[in-house]
Amino acid sequence: MSEFDYDLFVIGGGSGGVRAARIAATHGARVGIAEEFRYGGTCVIRGCVPKKLFVYASKFSEEFEDAEGFGWSVGERAFSWEKLVAAKDQEITRLEGIYRRNLERTNVELHDSRAVVEGPNSVRLLATGQLISAKYILIAVGASPNVDESLEGGEHVITSNEAFNLAELPQRAVVVGGGYIAVEFAGIFNGLGVETTLLYRGEEILRGFDMDLRTAVRQEMEKKGIKVICGDNLKQIVKNADGSLTATTDKGVRIDADQIMHAIGRRPHTVGLGLESAGVEMDRIGAIKVDAASQTSVPSIYAVGDVTNRANLTPVAIREGHAFADTVFGNKPWTVDHSLIATAVFSQPELGTVGLSQEEALKRTPNLDIYKSSFRPMKHTLSGRDEKMLMKIIVDADTDKVLGVHIMGPDAGELAQVLGITLEMGATKADFDRTIAVHPTAAEELVTMREPTEQLRG
Ligand code: NDP
Repeated sequence: MSEFDYDLFVIGGGSGGVRAARIAATHGARVGIAEEFRYGGTCVIRGCVPKKLFVYASKFSEEFEDAEGFGWSVGERAFSWEKLVAAKDQEITRLEGIYRRNLERTNVELHDSRAVVEGPNSVRLLATGQLISAKYILIAVGASPNVDESLEGGEHVITSNEAFNLAELPQRAVVVGGGYIAVEFAGIFNGLGVETTLLYRGEEILRGFDMDLRTAVRQEMEKKGIKVICGDNLKQIVKNADGSLTATTDKGVRIDADQIMHAIGRRPHTVGLGLESAGVEMDRIGAIKVDAASQTSVPSIYAVGDVTNRANLTPVAIREGHAFADTVFGNKPWTVDHSLIATAVFSQPELGTVGLSQEEALKRTPNLDIYKSSFRPMKHTLSGRDEKMLMKIIVDADTDKVLGVHIMGPDAGELAQVLGITLEMGATKADFDRTIAVHPTAAEELVTMREPTEQLRG
């Protein structure tokens, strides 16, 4: 009989925690998991999944317009926000059920409660007061949206958490931030017919991505009718008598809106989790410090996913949870390689990327060949839409190795996934060139760009 109630107790039923719990249980561990809100975590409940459903919804407005170029007459169009939210809720409830059943099927015991750490091997369930002992504890509580406490009138601001469940679709919206969530929501609102402003404090949206792509995405967003303001930030929000809001920026711009949304990053969800009392070290923003094996400063406590603020993406959390469970319970030690992660931004147009941006590549190697192609996707020859697709390949001129591929346009995320495999395998530009094109596709451009558009030396 073990001296502990569980071999593993997981706090947080999101992507990372659920994967770790299930894999540990299949390795024979006795596993308990606690979730204070809904199983599935941010990704399923109020992140990637509902976001993508909303992106689909918002694209129909352009699809209806484009259809006319192909001979269709599309009649009167009407959109119901209530129907979309209800359909989204139904799908999320279905997915949450799958998450619960998958845990139960592997004999993981579910506790619907907030849990806090009380020591290296103990966890308190706040719903019942029960104290649980576990040989190992895994923290997988994710992150929550930042709010700007210093903003005057900040109480009127919503975050992505609320945006998924608004009682009604605003007529005018301001989205603040220039990262993933801000550009994705600006596209969603705009596509659904909301007069949308994107307000970003930096010089160009999507910091960290390749500059050519950043500029191109912003320009296309503007063509679609989004007002993008860079180099400015919110200073004050006033609620008017009719319930509408008036925002004033640092530079004195006034914007009237019905909703103002902050998408200004996310913060590890560690406040009040009892980690200090157990001796778990955190950084300045409350992210748990871990080593390559996701072990914290307390040997019996591990952490995975956004709470560790490494690469804050669902598939990364899943990998980290899987590696932890295999290593600690499956006698199969391995670690996650965070160096090459393909990713997509579901902006409109979409952005898919893998590997280094030109700016990053230049910091690491002096000689680069850049292959760039900007063209009108075939569909828009008949739709008449003024929208470009952009592809960019960054090659180490000394080794011919492909260092990065960046795409803006339809299905860029799907392409990034496949390109990720080629870069993982160490593909060279010659490998791309040897590959016969698939015709007629946009992706064939990736294997037909023969001459560099730019050669950077030294
Ligand atoms: P990001 O870190 O991507 O972007 C935050 C943005 O907010 C930046 O533009 C930042 O500006 C700005 N910002 C930060 N603080 C302030 C402030 N005080 N005032 C004004 N602006 C500010 O965070 P998101 O919230 O967009 O997304 C959170 C995480 O979720 C991301 O790290 C991402 O990994 C993940 N995610 C992934 C998705 C995907 O894979 N498709 C989709 C959605 C989210 P600056 O650049 O100047 O720092």
